[in-house]
Amino acid sequence: MNYLDKLIKRDEIDRYYRDGRDFIDDEAICAELEANKNPDPQRIRDILQKSLAIQTLSGAETAALLAVEDPELLAEMADTALKIKHKVYDNRIVTFAPMYISSYCINRCRYCGFSADNHREKRQCLTMEEITREAEAMIRVGHKRVMAVYGEHPMTGARFIADSLARIYEGRVQARRGVCNVRRVNVNAAPMSIDDLKIVHEAGIGTFQVFQETYSHKIYREMHPQDTVKGDYGWRVTCMHRAFDAGIDDVGLGVLFGLNPNWKYEVAAMCTHARELERFVGIGPHTFSVPRMHSASGSDVANAKNSFTDDDFAKAVCVLRLSVPYTGLIVTARETKELRDRCLKLGITQMDAGTRIDIGGYSAGNKEQKIDEQQFLLGDSRSLEQMIVDLAKGGTITSFCTAGYRCGRTGGCIMDALKTGREGTFCKINAVLTFREWLDDFASPESIAACTPVIEKELAEIKEMYPKFFPQVQKRYEQICSGERDLFF
Ligand code: SAM
Ligand code: SF4
Repeated sequence: MNYLDKLIKRDEIDRYYRDGRDFIDDEAICAELEANKNPDPQRIRDILQKSLAIQTLSGAETAALLAVEDPELLAEMADTALKIKHKVYDNRIVTFAPMYISSYCINRCRYCGFSADNHREKRQCLTMEEITREAEAMIRVGHKRVMAVYGEHPMTGARFIADSLARIYEGRVQARRGVCNVRRVNVNAAPMSIDDLKIVHEAGIGTFQVFQETYSHKIYREMHPQDTVKGDYGWRVTCMHRAFDAGIDDVGLGVLFGLNPNWKYEVAAMCTHARELERFVGIGPHTFSVPRMHSASGSDVANAKNSFTDDDFAKAVCVLRLSVPYTGLIVTARETKELRDRCLKLGITQMDAGTRIDIGGYSAGNKEQKIDEQQFLLGDSRSLEQMIVDLAKGGTITSFCTAGYRCGRTGGCIMDALKTGREGTFCKINAVLTFREWLDDFASPESIAACTPVIEKELAEIKEMYPKFFPQVQKRYEQICSGERDLFF
């Protein structure tokens, strides 16, 4: 048995296939894009009403939105995207920061600095002690949500991931007013078997993210050598089915934009994946990510100019928001502040800040990015505090809430709450409570002053929307102001 056959459990792919094939039919998706090339404006407006009712769009409807070029209709789409965001997620952004744990990788993805073929990369894998140190360095600047990122390597299998999650959750730091910790750890790692996913699930994983990179079978083959684990398209595209069967009901999908010149195909295919998960378990993805390829050491693919523009990026974000309206949308610090600001108006829900993608970068306190010590180069290097202040000045509140997850509002339960707008109520209140906590623990007097108007506005809105409930909210708010921590609804 060769090593690929040991790692990849064929029966854990085949059981999710229909008629011996995976659920991504390249030809059918391309045909749908072609058939909806010239959508009638009234049809687009009808589709927007369906999105506004928080209903997942069909493939044909997504294809029609992708075809819109008329500036007036595009403006209506952008407007609806933001309305949906406010309806489902209210006026908030959730922040997180990635923790890169290991750059050892057995795969040879042609676009990635961690490829085993890249001999210039200085490999590192954090020890458990270093993970604790790194977690505490992150907590010290106020992070409460971490995305743990791993290359694929025997050293960093499921047990290692589970142990590292425990270390991150254990970290404690005394801040100005209270003791702080990481309250949610999401994971971005290679696909795993059901048994391995159960191990990670039991360790308290938040969202399990695996990006398909490209849904095109042909480009996938070209980018991922066939003698590597990642070369197996089927193992990757079925990994979220396995995650659900292992009990993980929060999953995140993503496409590495820039790999496929036909980016509309990728948006349509990722929405097909979301609909397939809805069909399979009745729950769609918790998040979509839209990473775009950036320069990486040793990669001819990542360092070549690609055709995916900022305008394409913004349209992809808008169509994703409209197509699967209840799903969170993450735009990372790979992108510039300007593009992230633009995406804010299109309904994104999560952004990382104060991001370091070099291994051990938070505890080392490095200031500069080093191409040979990280996966790729970042576009937005603002600190967490700076981003929070920028958001507040634009009227957006930053939420550190992790209550939904800890109260069992995950999976199907959170999907229902999001679709009916109920989650927005909890989010709105918990955003204020956690934001107050963060400001009192970490922000400078100038930042507190800049953020106070947004808290006051939110409290006034809560009072108006839920007059009977407001006294309870006010009580918890006052408890937080006097130093109590981690109170939520
Ligand atoms: N090794 C795991 C895997 O490949 O699934 C997870 C970690 S990998 C470091 C996380 C993601 O980084 C990949 O899924 C890919 O989308 C993204 N990535 C790889 N190379 C990139 C590049 N040059 N620019 C931007 N993102 C990149
Ligand atoms: Fe390894 Fe992931 Fe990079 Fe591919 S994208 S080389 S699997 S770290």
